[in-house]
Amino acid sequence: MTANASFNPFEMARSQFDKIADMLDLDQATRDILRTPQREYHFTIPVRMDDGQVRVFKGFRVQHNDARGPAKGGIRFHPQETVDTVRALSMWMTWKCAVADIPLGGGKGGVICDPHNLSAREQEAICRGWVRQLARNIGPVADVPAPDVMTNPQHMLWMLDEYETIAGGHYPGMITGKPVGMGGSLGRTEATGYGVVFCLREALKELGIDPTATTASVQGFGNVAQFAIDLYQQLGGKVVCVSSWDQGEQTTYAFAREEGIDLEQLRGMTDRFGGIDKAQAAAAGYQVLPGDQWIEREVDILIPAALEHQITADNVQRISDRVKIIAEGANGPTTPEADKVIAERGIFLIPDFLANAGGVTCSYFEQVQCNMNYFWDKEDVLSRLDQKMTAAYHSISELAAKRKLYMRDAAYVVAIDRVAGACRDRGWV
Ligand code: NAD
Repeated sequence: MTANASFNPFEMARSQFDKIADMLDLDQATRDILRTPQREYHFTIPVRMDDGQVRVFKGFRVQHNDARGPAKGGIRFHPQETVDTVRALSMWMTWKCAVADIPLGGGKGGVICDPHNLSAREQEAICRGWVRQLARNIGPVADVPAPDVMTNPQHMLWMLDEYETIAGGHYPGMITGKPVGMGGSLGRTEATGYGVVFCLREALKELGIDPTATTASVQGFGNVAQFAIDLYQQLGGKVVCVSSWDQGEQTTYAFAREEGIDLEQLRGMTDRFGGIDKAQAAAAGYQVLPGDQWIEREVDILIPAALEHQITADNVQRISDRVKIIAEGANGPTTPEADKVIAERGIFLIPDFLANAGGVTCSYFEQVQCNMNYFWDKEDVLSRLDQKMTAAYHSISELAAKRKLYMRDAAYVVAIDRVAGACRDRGWV
């Protein structure tokens, strides 16, 4: 999913993999198995719309690798969804679960549609249709979906209900991101954004920077961005800029305030897709700027938390010299060309599949709780999440320091080595 038709995220994911495969000196068969998804499903979902017409939507599920456990990954609803985006995201899920050291593989799914223009009934029909096409190929011991961009707990519950109707039993571990009280885990809403900041907190400690003396600029104002901002502010940091997509004008805006944004106030001006109301924000004293300005703010920390392909060869030079850390909340926000520049400039990067692994780690906790049919309180979930993320962060940063590797490369080395090992141990290669 991208506004730029020439950018192919799967090629990017493969080129990142190839580089590490060379570093690890992987044999050809291991490369072949890890460069290509193990299974892909492409299908149509016919839906009778509210106006009586039938519209046919296109859906996907890609299971990149399940050597370490059932495939795991979200489902996106987006008008520009492409199968190559889903492939790339499924590959990144494999590495993310391996980096977080949870016993799951990588998958991803999507439907080409725009929920902005669909009624709740039409969205329910898409969710149920998606499950009807895949019921034999997903489930608690095979492939466990979750929400992603523009999908939410209600969508997950409709999907679970359809699955349980087909399977004839209760299988709450079939899908994660469910509403709390219906098999969902407390803390899941916070998990990805908080996970980004658990890593950021550890990085600041290692770099000897006091969080209360730092400022940050954040791209996006959805689930990940809002909870990253929440915890970062609790650590004493100041967010001076956020950006979001304006659905009405089909463009992005950045909202800047030097004394720091008021999270609750901005939330009150934001629609359910994370779009901030420009007029209300201006009236509340925010400077409203073109959306791409988030990247050139004079801050210590950048948190891209919107979409992939946002820090590119075209805009990486606009990053201020003051920036010390980039914590990637979004999946794939930085292109390999921009990555080189960031590494050369010595900016400390916390790579996406480490930084945003809090979501999948909490999804794993959700499955564990569903399997036990016993649910933890929120503090328990978040403190276990902190432990897992902190351990994952340090296993990567220690390797990076020992072998003088860029953090993204170190994370890939750990992840690919673990997955390649599982493929070998199973006798696949
Ligand atoms: P979301 O839909 O809640 O929010 C997306 C935000 O990005 C919205 O504020 C939207 O207005 C903004 N946005 C969209 N296009 C933009 C653009 N071109 N420029 C600036 N802002 C733009 O999504 P989310 O759940 O917060 O996910 C954000 C990213 O994090 C995605 O890359 C997603 O894959 C990744 N991620 C999410 C989770 C999770 O648990 N939600 C977990 C891991 C990774």
